[in-house]
Amino acid sequence: MNAEELCPCGGFAAETSYARCCAPFVDDGEPAPTCEQLMRSRYTAFARRDADHLWRTWHPRTRPEQIADLEGVTWLGLEVLGTEAGGPDDSEGTVDFAAHFRTDAGKRGAVREHSRFARRAGRWFYVDGDELA
Ligand SMILES: [Zn+2]
Repeated sequence: MNAEELCPCGGFAAETSYARCCAPFVDDGEPAPTCEQLMRSRYTAFARRDADHLWRTWHPRTRPEQIADLEGVTWLGLEVLGTEAGGPDDSEGTVDFAAHFRTDAGKRGAVREHSRFARRAGRWFYVDGDELA
């Protein structure tokens, strides 16, 4: 991916390039300052099929043994619908989002989730989520 390309997450500050948006978290493992940025970086990791970033940002209490197969789906875009807490001074936060996808078989859909995040040792982790109605 060209470093100047638009970030798959759409950009934290809309239309930010990948290099200036999610790359420090996904490629370099830097801690995301807010849970929204962590959530965006995880969406970007799904889009880039980067299982390592998904695994290391999943809370040890809830993460799977192994990240499921990331093939077969193209992620088309992310909408952040709302956030609660999750800032640099918080220890918990939530993000509501819709992530749009298309399967290789041509089916389109969206994952809509209320995701919970927790911070430990200065890093945000994805804990779990509920499907949004
Ligand atoms: Zn991004």
